[in-house]
Amino acid sequence: MGNASSIEPTKTIFLDIDGKKEKIMFSRHCGTRDIHDLIAHAAGVSRYAEISLKDSTGAFVSLNPTMPINTQSSPYKVTSKEPSPTTESSNGDGEVFTQVLSQVASQFNNQFSKEGVFKVEEIKTDIATRLSALERKMELEGLKAVEIEKCKRDISDIKDQIWNAQKKFVDFNRLSRDTHIMNRKQTLSTYRKYTLSQETIEYLKQPTFDIWHWEPNEMLSLLEHMFHELGLVAEFNINPITLKRFFLCVQENYRNNPFHNFRHCFCVTQMMYGMIHLCHLWEVMTREDLGILMTACVCHDLDHPGYNNTYQINARTELAIRYNDISPLENHHCAVAFKILSNPECNIFANVDKDTFKRIRAGITMLILATDMARHGEIMDNFKMKLEPEFDYKNKDSLDTLKMVLIKCCDISNEVRPMEVSEPWVDCLLEEYFNQSDREKMEGLPVAPFMDRDKVTKPTAQIGFIKFVLIPMFETVAKLFPVIDSTMVEPLRIARDRYEDMKEKNSMPPPPSQSNKKKTVTEK
Ligand code: 5GP
Ligand code: MN
Repeated sequence: MGNASSIEPTKTIFLDIDGKKEKIMFSRHCGTRDIHDLIAHAAGVSRYAEISLKDSTGAFVSLNPTMPINTQSSPYKVTSKEPSPTTESSNGDGEVFTQVLSQVASQFNNQFSKEGVFKVEEIKTDIATRLSALERKMELEGLKAVEIEKCKRDISDIKDQIWNAQKKFVDFNRLSRDTHIMNRKQTLSTYRKYTLSQETIEYLKQPTFDIWHWEPNEMLSLLEHMFHELGLVAEFNINPITLKRFFLCVQENYRNNPFHNFRHCFCVTQMMYGMIHLCHLWEVMTREDLGILMTACVCHDLDHPGYNNTYQINARTELAIRYNDISPLENHHCAVAFKILSNPECNIFANVDKDTFKRIRAGITMLILATDMARHGEIMDNFKMKLEPEFDYKNKDSLDTLKMVLIKCCDISNEVRPMEVSEPWVDCLLEEYFNQSDREKMEGLPVAPFMDRDKVTKPTAQIGFIKFVLIPMFETVAKLFPVIDSTMVEPLRIARDRYEDMKEKNSMPPPPSQSNKKKTVTEK
């Protein structure tokens, strides 16, 4: 069935509408709403009617582009119900969303604090305004196809907002105690100064550092320490309070995603700190370069929504539209970074001269944009060329490429860490992937096999990534800094072997049944 539907560009479904046989056909790429409307049309009811389908066993069939196909002799029985007069009043989708929104809001009201209600009310007003604009547009029957598309995108955008508002709200509650930027004064006083032990200070320079051990406040202190210890505070003449406010604001602007969250930002920055120390990078580049590398790591996934570029582009989100499908996420992370830095209270580069700021801005932008994995091949090919016949640290182009490769290494370096530290990250990544693919299935968008919960497992997710992306990249960097081989490539080889073992064990036949076991014993 699955195969047939992947070969055929369209899907055919047979229906039984009050004894009358009907047939509908649709593309696998159309949305749930389109199929709903098609069935409503066939049933002669309005597009706002509630429609349910049952198969010949009486089981409800979900109405979406991945619904199982059937045959002419076993059509799905269609039942439909027009909405009650209160919901029918001229506004269709808008009314439905207002209702959903009220439900979400009342849920919040029941569960959360006063600030929460206030926040939800704010969101509700904003969305209500947008919905009424949408309703006005939808009033006209027979909208042009292009307008219908636009309406659909607006509705999907509103859904996105409700979704994100819910997530952000949870974040807000969790983090408000110590991170909310609006309460900066109060926040700074509750931002405790942690005294770091000498052991922690040394351990922080190692790729083996246990990044799970630390609470958000402690991670802030560790980040601060790294900037002081590398001489960046002195180099850029940073006000230490501004540095604290900068990190708080950064933390506030990471969302509570399973993977792309503030702890991921901390990991990437700590790995960069580790590489700076392992490779003695201060011997081959300036403090300014080190500052650009570290700040780019801190900011590189700011406000990540938890859905990748492919989703942004296919779902035609606001981000994809704003950035013309060109690295929409990375462009956004970078724009948020400079928005934060545009606030004088958070601007850690407030005391540098204009030209230096220009260089820093260009450098950070270049590095954050380089984290788009779609550019992996291009950047690695470029770097390999710079290695021959000999790498020239004095050449700006070569040094820029090295910096891009370094941030890329840190960005995807979880598997370099000891197994106890790295393995939970795979669960986090898969959770985020599955969340995306579930949503893509729901919205009738294409689903990448590596994100599909029916196709991917922990070892299969990691083996290819370690063998074909991580090991080749770190081996290339090891040509320039041989210390990388024992400290980073070797742990990757160990991780690869471990996942290969895990895969083999997963594919082993189940243990012999009880009767077989007995037989073996008697044979002996
Ligand atoms: P990002 O900038 O999004 O954090 O990192 C780039 C992308 O690399 C991630 O979104 C993810 O798709 C991929 N990636 C990073 N680490 C891993 C990993 O350990 N395993 C796999 N399979 N992919 C990874
Ligand atoms: Mn990242």
